[in-house]
Amino acid sequence: MAAGEAQADCLFCKIVAGDVPATVVRETKDFVAFRDINPQAPTHILVIPRAHYPNAGELGAAEPELAGTLLAEAAAVAAGEGIDETGYRVVFNTGAGAGQTVFHVHAHVMGGRGLTWPPG
Ligand code: IMP
Repeated sequence: MAAGEAQADCLFCKIVAGDVPATVVRETKDFVAFRDINPQAPTHILVIPRAHYPNAGELGAAEPELAGTLLAEAAAVAAGEGIDETGYRVVFNTGAGAGQTVFHVHAHVMGGRGLTWPPG
């Protein structure tokens, strides 16, 4: 298996391929952004690279430029949703112990309400 290659059993690879429906808010050559199916804030969008990497650490190690661009994509999504002025959070749950349930790297972009710190 080549690095970044689509995985047959990966839900987010299926969304990238268009085989699972999603409410897409932004697409580029390298990224897809879509609304979380179980939103935890008024705005809750997932930004994923089309390439499959299991988590943010593995993406950063394999493709640092793509990992950096993912942050710019998250910011563009926040601006598109109008939450850049009020503030928003970008979260990468990494590992099951941190709450990661889908093992295709994704940035949660959340905003539209007050966000407390530390998160649970
Ligand atoms: P994680 O728990 O950090 O891995 O985040 C996975 C996220 O994917 C959760 O917030 C889920 O609600 C979300 N999710 C799971 N399935 C779908 C789907 O089919 N469409 C959109 N979001 C999904």
